[in-house]
Amino acid sequence: MTRPLILVSNDDGVYAPGIRVLAECAAEYGDVVVSAPQGEQSGSSHAITLHSHLRAKPVRDGWFGVSGTPVDSVYLGVLHLCPRPPDLVIAGINDGYNLGSDVIYSGTVGAAREGHLRGASALAVSVTRGHPPLAAVASVRRLLPALWERHRAGERHLLNVNVAAWEQEEPQPVVVTTLGQRRYVDRVEKRLDLQGQPYYWIGGPPDLADDRPGEDTHAVAQGYVSVTPIAPSPQLRELKTWQDALVDA
Ligand code: MN
Repeated sequence: MTRPLILVSNDDGVYAPGIRVLAECAAEYGDVVVSAPQGEQSGSSHAITLHSHLRAKPVRDGWFGVSGTPVDSVYLGVLHLCPRPPDLVIAGINDGYNLGSDVIYSGTVGAAREGHLRGASALAVSVTRGHPPLAAVASVRRLLPALWERHRAGERHLLNVNVAAWEQEEPQPVVVTTLGQRRYVDRVEKRLDLQGQPYYWIGGPPDLADDRPGEDTHAVAQGYVSVTPIAPSPQLRELKTWQDALVDA
């Protein structure tokens, strides 16, 4: 059986524990190239660096630390660092969930989405914040062959996977979900620098949300592995309502 070429990236940086676990897992199924930011890039979404140069520093055999965003890393990875276009692009294992509206901000999801845009099937994997990335390995082992099998059949998917850290040995149940509501305690903190000029910190911790069954937020709260297909993404029902409202019969 042909082995897929798998490009591995993340947004926590090339030295994060999660990407090592993910790359080791990927190597069980295919040939692996790792291209990821040199440092922390969480929250960088789909940003691309067009106004300064990039460097891709070899950190070990087949591993590159890129002086840019997760999307820069995948762009360089697909078009330049990989010996051929990768079949699969997988990102993570992110330290902390990417649920609901997080997928808009997430560099992990951005990296996977860039791979998908460039012809690969793609996976973004996240685990409960502060828990060992090993908690997600059983899920990755289950999803990678399934993604590869479908890719070979001509289907291309982009899956957002969130794994609730689980104390027991047996694999967790998987549920297929839609994106839920992700709420945060929004904060703007104003401080003064040594010259008396204001500066700001923004962002805050997650807040309680109205989790509904069938949504990713609900699934992880119940201890499941949440798998959300996020591309192709037309919301057909909404398209139909706008079509009816705007297009003359
Ligand atoms: Mn991250």
